[in-house]
Amino acid sequence: MPINISPIPDLPDHVNDVRLRTAAFINQEILPVEDRLFVGRRGHSITDEMLADSKALRESVKVKVKAAGLWAPHLPQEYGGMGLDFLAHAYMNEILAYALGAASLFGVVAPNSGNQKILVKYGTEDQKQRWLLPLIDGTMQSGYSMTEPDNAGSDPRSIKTTAVRDGDDYVINGHKWFTSNGLEADFFIVMCRVEDPTAEGSRSGSMSQIIVPTDTPGVEIVRGIGIWGSRSSDHCEVKYNNVRVPADNVLGRVGQGHEAAQDRLGAGRVFHCMNSVGQMWRAFDLMVERALTREVHGGLLKDKQFIQGFIADSYMDLQTSRLLTIRAAEMIDRGDPRARTEISALKVYVPAAFHRVVDRAIQVWGAAGVSNDLPLAAMYLGARTLRLADGPDEVHKILIAKNVLHSYERGESWDFAR
Ligand SMILES: Cc1cc2nc3c(=O)[nH]c(=O)nc-3n(C[C@H](O)[C@H](O)[C@H](O)COP(=O)(O)OP(=O)(O)OC[C@H]3O[C@@H](n4cnc5c(N)ncnc54)[C@H](O)[C@@H]3O)c2cc1C
Repeated sequence: MPINISPIPDLPDHVNDVRLRTAAFINQEILPVEDRLFVGRRGHSITDEMLADSKALRESVKVKVKAAGLWAPHLPQEYGGMGLDFLAHAYMNEILAYALGAASLFGVVAPNSGNQKILVKYGTEDQKQRWLLPLIDGTMQSGYSMTEPDNAGSDPRSIKTTAVRDGDDYVINGHKWFTSNGLEADFFIVMCRVEDPTAEGSRSGSMSQIIVPTDTPGVEIVRGIGIWGSRSSDHCEVKYNNVRVPADNVLGRVGQGHEAAQDRLGAGRVFHCMNSVGQMWRAFDLMVERALTREVHGGLLKDKQFIQGFIADSYMDLQTSRLLTIRAAEMIDRGDPRARTEISALKVYVPAAFHRVVDRAIQVWGAAGVSNDLPLAAMYLGARTLRLADGPDEVHKILIAKNVLHSYERGESWDFAR
C-alpha cells in the first residue's frame, strides 16, 4: 500500500514540501522494490546473485536520493545535509520509516548519524577532517561505546572505564557492551572517566568522550552479542586494555561528556520516536487492509467488533504518539527548556504504543503476522527493544515526575499546558 498523504493546512510550506517529496520518493523508488532492497529479511535461502543485486540497487537508490535533495536530513547543509529544523526532520522521519530500513538509504544510520551530530558540534577542525567527513561520505563506520556490563547503563555516572593522562596521551581501560555497529566500526566514541587533575576547568574523574580508532592495540572485540534468539549481532562486547590514544582525541572539553551525550540522545529520541510513528502507520495500514479483505466465520474481519476495537485502539495510540512527538519537535525548535520533559514523555509513551499497535496487527494477520513475509515481526522486536535503548522507561518517568513536581512547587502548576 503506498503512502497516501496530502499537505497539512497550517504547516509551514517547507515542511509540507519535505513530506510530499519524501512520500513520492518512497512510493516510487522504495516500496515497489522493498524485497530486493532488504533481501536479508527474507526467510529462505539468499543467493550471491540476490545479495549483489540488493547491493547495486541500494547504491543506485542512494544516488537518486542525493539527486532528489533528500540526503542526510540530520546534517547541516555545509556538511552535505538538508539542514532541516526539528519539525521538518520529524515529519520526514515519519514518512521515511514507513519502509522499514529505508532511513539508511537517506544517509541516516545509527549510531553513525548520532556520532556525526556530536562531531559537528564538539569536534575540532582536525577531528572533523579525520573522522566526520569520512563518516559522512561512507568511507568510515563508527560506534558509540558507553554502556558497561558491570554498571547500570541507566545511571551513566556509574561508568567505570578510565582514561588516565600519560604525557601527550590518554590510556584507556574498561569493559563495555552493546556497542552497536561494533563489527564494522573504524572508530568508537568512548565514554570515559578521565583521571587528569591538571586538565583546565575539570574535576578529576570527569566524564569525557574520547575517539578511539578500533585498530588501536588493546581494543578487543570480545563478541557480537546474540539478541532475540539470534546467534550474533553487531551489538558488541568490547574490552579496552591499556588503549593509548593522543590527548587530541578528546571530543569537546574534558568533563563535557555528559553534556554531549545528552545532546546526542535528546535529539535522537525525538527522531527514533517519529520513526516509530512511521512504522506504526505501516502496521496500521496492514491491519486495516487485512481487516477489509480477510473472511473468517462467514464474514469479513472488519465487521467483527473485536477487530474494530483493535483498529480504534491503534488509531488512538498512533495519533497520541504523533502529537506528542511533533509537540516536542516544535518546543526544541523554539528553544523551550521544557522540551526535556516532553522528550522523556514521548520516549516512554511512543515505544509502548508502537508495541501495542504492532501486536494487534500481528494478531489480525494470524500466522502470517509472525512470518518474514511481512515487516511486523521485525517491528515487534524493535519496539520492545526501544523501551530499553536510549534510557529505560523508569528513568524517564522519574525525570517527568521530578520536573512536574518542581513546577508545582514553584507555583507554575499549569506551565505544562502551554
Ligand atoms: C539493541 C540495543 C542497542 C544498544 N546500543 C547501544 C550503543 O550503541 N551504545 C551504548 O553505549 N549502549 C547501547 N545500548 C545499551 C542501552 O543504552 C542500555 O541497555 C540502557 O541504557 C539500560 O542500561 P542497562 O542495560 O545497563 O540496564 P540497567 O541500568 O541495569 O537497568 C535495568 C532496569 O532497571 C530498571 N531501572 C533502572 N533505573 C531505575 C530506577 N531509578 N528506578 C526503578 N527502576 C529502574 C529499568 O527497568 C531498567 O530496564 C543498547 C541496548 C540495546 C538493547
